[in-house]
Amino acid sequence: MNHNSKTALITGGTRGIGRAIALALAGQVENIALLYAGRRDAAEDTVNALLGKGVKSLAFACDVADSAQAKAACDQAREAFGPISILVNSAGITRDGLTLRMPPEDFKRVIEVNLAGAFHTIQACYRDLMKAGWGRVVNIGSVSGLMGNPGQMNYSAAKAGLVGLTKTLARELAGRGVTANLVAPGFIDTDMTRELPDGTLARALAQVPMGRMGKAEEVAAAVNYLCSPGADYVTGCVLQVDGGMYM
Ligand code: NDP
Repeated sequence: MNHNSKTALITGGTRGIGRAIALALAGQVENIALLYAGRRDAAEDTVNALLGKGVKSLAFACDVADSAQAKAACDQAREAFGPISILVNSAGITRDGLTLRMPPEDFKRVIEVNLAGAFHTIQACYRDLMKAGWGRVVNIGSVSGLMGNPGQMNYSAAKAGLVGLTKTLARELAGRGVTANLVAPGFIDTDMTRELPDGTLARALAQVPMGRMGKAEEVAAAVNYLCSPGADYVTGCVLQVDGGMYM
């Protein structure tokens, strides 16, 4: 298969880690569809950056937590570019709070966006992946899903759920030449972590043997590898990019 004729779809691909993944994948695909929640300026900026790299790109606003919206966005991407062969689920939110005080709706919303959102896009792209005889799914988890994190019962549960989801998909599609893997970042410098109070960040960094935050580009490099032909025999794995935080 000519790897220059591929289409990648990246949820949350307009900002932070997802944007860095889009820019990295620009080296190995021809078309990139980005899904985002609503920040249009960021979406336009990332689309323009991709166009500048010679990649065709469109961004579609949708709430991945809503199965109909997620399917409609994936369908629009397919109409524009053809079948999706690389799917990266990076859309994610946090709604942190101590368990005793966490409103049930905050628990549900984080599960719906971070976990059900990935299920929705996978379902919407499943036939494309199955038929092509080659494909890649990479879900962005978190060290929180592997080790737990006080104040993140919703987020840790969603990210742990993604591990099981990823391994199930890996088993379902292995015979079709499609791999499914999860990348689990530690503390990465993006808008998400810039919102953290200083004390929280300092406590988090104290747990990182490398003593610094990671860069979105460092996560993107791992995703880029997993999407490359060189990773044909790597499936069902959890690849941590966390400066040694969890080991
Ligand atoms: P950002 O907040 O920088 O970007 C989030 C992206 O997801 C944006 O493109 C946003 O769109 C999109 N998004 C949010 N909610 C929805 C939704 N309901 N439907 C569609 N798109 C949505 O996040 P990061 O880049 O920091 O995080 C990316 C992923 O990495 C997340 O899954 C996160 O949990 C994970 N992660 C991040 C870590 C970190 O330290 N930053 C650590 C470990 C994991 P819009 O711009 O329109 O809001």
